[in-house]
Amino acid sequence: MDFDLFVIGAGSAGVRCARVSAGYGARVAIAEARHWGGTCVNVGCVPKKIMVQAAEYCGAFEDARAFGWDVDVRGHNWAVLKARRDAEVSRLSGLYRHLLEGAGVTLFEGHATLIDAHTVAIGERRATARYIVIATGAESVRPSIPGAEHCLLSDDLFLLSAKPNRAVVLGGGYIACEFASLLNGLGTEVHQLYRGPLFLRGFDRDIREALAEELRADGIDLRFDADAERIERTREGFLVVSSDGRAIEADAVFAAIGRRPKVAALGLERVGVSTDAKGAILVNEAMQTSVPSIYALGDVTDRLNLTPVATAQGHALADTLFGGRPRRVSLENVPTAVFTTPPIGSVGLTEEEASNRGPVDVYLARFRPLRHTMTGRKRRTLIKLVVERASGRVLGAHMLGEDAPEIIQGIAIALVMGATKADFDRTIGVHPTAAEEFVTLRTLRPEPLADAAD
Ligand code: FAD
Ligand code: NDP
Repeated sequence: MDFDLFVIGAGSAGVRCARVSAGYGARVAIAEARHWGGTCVNVGCVPKKIMVQAAEYCGAFEDARAFGWDVDVRGHNWAVLKARRDAEVSRLSGLYRHLLEGAGVTLFEGHATLIDAHTVAIGERRATARYIVIATGAESVRPSIPGAEHCLLSDDLFLLSAKPNRAVVLGGGYIACEFASLLNGLGTEVHQLYRGPLFLRGFDRDIREALAEELRADGIDLRFDADAERIERTREGFLVVSSDGRAIEADAVFAAIGRRPKVAALGLERVGVSTDAKGAILVNEAMQTSVPSIYALGDVTDRLNLTPVATAQGHALADTLFGGRPRRVSLENVPTAVFTTPPIGSVGLTEEEASNRGPVDVYLARFRPLRHTMTGRKRRTLIKLVVERASGRVLGAHMLGEDAPEIIQGIAIALVMGATKADFDRTIGVHPTAAEEFVTLRTLRPEPLADAAD
């Protein structure tokens, strides 16, 4: 064999797996078709968060006046933001490449295909390896409606050379909500259309309803039970005709209706790697595919499609194959955030999920944060704990409000350790913060949710 390990895809999962394996002394190669560091670094978490941070200044400038600042904002320069963001992304992508080289990993640039259970082709080149890891990620889905070719996908946001003045965002998941919110903050007139009755399916109902209120209060035209039926090109831009009978004019239409595993032209069928109906590679608990020498990690397995999950899986596989420390990654109590303004932080079970398992007590506080008692802005933070009645164990913690993603990371440690409501209660708060509400929650939600089936 040429290598002990050949990794296909240098994203969050692949880079970590390759680097750590090489650190254990394994002979490792990695192939990347597009950009070192993958989605997160180049067209995902990092550039997105920079856009979110840029958008947050809009409200901050307005709010500053309430604290006595004499602020005169003359506008926003999209080109400056783009140039500085792109420079940071290039730096980070280069760093990923450098880290791999530094670890002694052999780099191949190009699309890799499986030839057999131990052989990979990159163009005309062939490499053999004892183990192969598929970490090829996912790609955006385009809607199947007339005019879908006019839609921008999430990658395209980072190519735009100017701010769209009017945008329609299709979808109600992470990307649609984050894009709608950041564009709104940067001054775009935003219309978000979601096909169902309430967006962010899978998140806690109270949080979803509260976020909808906040986004609408910030000026987003957020429509539920509304799906795009067709998109037409006009002289000025585009016209989105929706199922609720409206026709919305826009300069840009973003489709954020999900991502599918990136498995095209990988040679899976040839080698016998099984997939599900969506194309996700099927793996067992050890991330091993139906071909024993081939493993799959990250978004291509379509489990919890988050960067820290992908990197954790990559690390665990390297420990298992080459570090003499076999281990698996639990997908329970994985914290997650939606970087809207205000953002969501969430860990553990939603009230709906927990109630389906047995009786729960729900503690909830909704309050105006101190900052906005000054600004008068109609913002309300929501903090919620879902507690198993029999054991007192906290099964879920959810927050909508400033710094929620930062706060929920700490709360997640408590949940992973199995903390009870009594443990939260005997913890002294940090005052004055919003986070202290997590340890002072006394108000039981009076009624269970009317309809927990969602
Ligand atoms: P990827 O990072 O996608 O890497 C796969 C790599 O494989 C790519 O570089 C691709 O070019 C390469 N590749 C594919 N096929 C081949 C082939 N045949 N040969 C060679 N190379 C190939 N997650 C979070 O946790 N927090 C966030 O805030 C967040 N924000 C996001 C925002 C957006 C807009 C998007 C799209 C995603 C976001 N995510 C976020 C999700 C996160 O980016 C993914 O979960 C993560 O990147 C998955 O890592 P991966 O290694 O599985 O795949
Ligand atoms: P999501 O799966 O989060 O959301 C997809 C959305 O599109 C849902 O609202 C879904 O509705 C809707 N939808 C699906 N199919 C159609 C259709 N045919 N027509 C209209 N609407 C449709 O996917 P995203 O693309 O937003 O993000 C992909 C993944 O990337 C996320 O799931 C997440 O794992 C990751 N990510 C994480 C982020 C973070 O951690 N902050 C940020 C961005 C992405 P319905 O619910 O009714 O099915």
